[in-house]
Amino acid sequence: MNNTKIDDKKYIANTYARFDVELVKGQGSVLYDENGKKYIDLGSGIAVNCFGIGDNEWKNAVTEQLNRIQHTSNLYYSEPQVKLAKLLCERTGMKKVFFANSGAEANECAIKAARKYSSDKYGDGRNVIITLVNSFHGRTITTLSATGQDVFHKSFGPFTEGFVYANANCFDEIKELCGKYKVCAIMMELVQGEGGVMALEPEYVKRVEAFAAENDYLLIIDEVQTGNGRTGELYAFMNYGIMPDIVSTAKGIAGGLPFGACLLGEKCKDVLGSGSHGSTFGGNPICAAGAYNVLSRIDEELLEGVKERNRYILEALKDAKGVKSVSGMGLMLGIEVDGNAREIVEKAIEKGVIALTAKHKVRLLPALNIPMEVLRDAIEILKKVIEENSN
Ligand SMILES: *Cc1c(COP(=O)(O)O)cnc(C)c1O
Repeated sequence: MNNTKIDDKKYIANTYARFDVELVKGQGSVLYDENGKKYIDLGSGIAVNCFGIGDNEWKNAVTEQLNRIQHTSNLYYSEPQVKLAKLLCERTGMKKVFFANSGAEANECAIKAARKYSSDKYGDGRNVIITLVNSFHGRTITTLSATGQDVFHKSFGPFTEGFVYANANCFDEIKELCGKYKVCAIMMELVQGEGGVMALEPEYVKRVEAFAAENDYLLIIDEVQTGNGRTGELYAFMNYGIMPDIVSTAKGIAGGLPFGACLLGEKCKDVLGSGSHGSTFGGNPICAAGAYNVLSRIDEELLEGVKERNRYILEALKDAKGVKSVSGMGLMLGIEVDGNAREIVEKAIEKGVIALTAKHKVRLLPALNIPMEVLRDAIEILKKVIEENSN
C-alpha cells in the first residue's frame, strides 16, 4: 500500500468502500494510476466527466472564468449564471432555474418548491411526496427520506416526514397513496441509477404525468444521473415525451465541477421568493462557465453518438457468456451478470478497465464522447472478465 492509501485509511472518514486504485491523471477516457498503469474509464467519476478528463474546450471555458473572477456570492448579478439559466430554459421548456452544488441540494430545492407551491395554493397540510421503491435521491436527511430504500432509513433518525413510496411501474399504487395521503408531488428517476439501472415503462410514466396534471400534483423528475445527454437525449424526460413540473440535475452538468440545478416549470417558477431559499456557492461562476460549455456542446450529433455507442455495447454483450441481460438507456447501462458484480469490477480494474456497480449489476457510465475504438477495447476486456468470473 502506498502512502495515499495508508493515510486515507487513517485520516479520511471511512464512508466509501474504495477500490484498490489511485487515479492521478488522464486524457479523455484514458486514466493513469500513481504507477503509470493505464486504464480505460467506463465510469467517468459516476457520470460526471461527460467529456472525459482534460477536455480542451471545457478547460478553456473554465480557466477563462477562473482568470476573471472565481466567486461573487448571490447578492450580485452574474453573467455566467444568467447565460446558463437561459440556455437550460430554452433547451428544456422549463421557466426558471435555481443553482446548487450537488444532486442532493438540487433535490432539496425541488422538494421545497413543490411543498411551497402546494402551501401557497392549498394551505398547510398537503405536503406528502410520493417517491419510488429503489429510488435514490441523495444523502441529506431529507433526500434520504425521499430515497425509497429501507437500508437508508436506519440509524440517522428522525427523518423528514412526508414521503411515501410506490413500487415502480405500478400506477395503481400511486393512485392508492393519493387517496390515503394529502399528496403535493410525485418524484421519480426515469432510469433508476443506484437502484439498478432500471428504466421506467413509458406507458406508466405517461399515466403518472396525466394523473399528476389532473390533480395538480407536481411531477418532479430527478435527472441528477440521467441528465445532460446521458440517456441519448439532453434530459431523459425527452425520451418519454413528458413535461415535468420540476427537473433536478447535477453530476455531469459541469463536466467535473461540483454543480447542481433545479429547473422550475410554469406552475412553480415563482414560488420561491426572495429569502425562501439560497446557497453560498450555488451558481459559482467557474462551475457555471463549465456547465455552459458542456450544455452548449450536447447537440444532435453528440446525442446520436451516445445512441450509436449504446447500440454497439448492447450488440457486443448480446450473447456474451455470463451476461444475463443489459438494462438502461444511452450510456447509462446495467449489466446483470452471472457472477459477483463487485468482484467482476475489481478484476476489470486489474485488467485496466474502470467500471462501476449498481446493486447486483455492473454499471457503465462512460464519457459521452468516448472514442469508439477505446470503447471497443474496454468492452472486449470487460466481456472476458465477466466470462471468466461467471458461475
Ligand atoms: C447521485 C444522485 C443523487 C445525489 O447527488 P449528489 O451530488 O451526490 O448529492 C441524487 N439523485 C440521483 C438520481 C443520483 O444519481
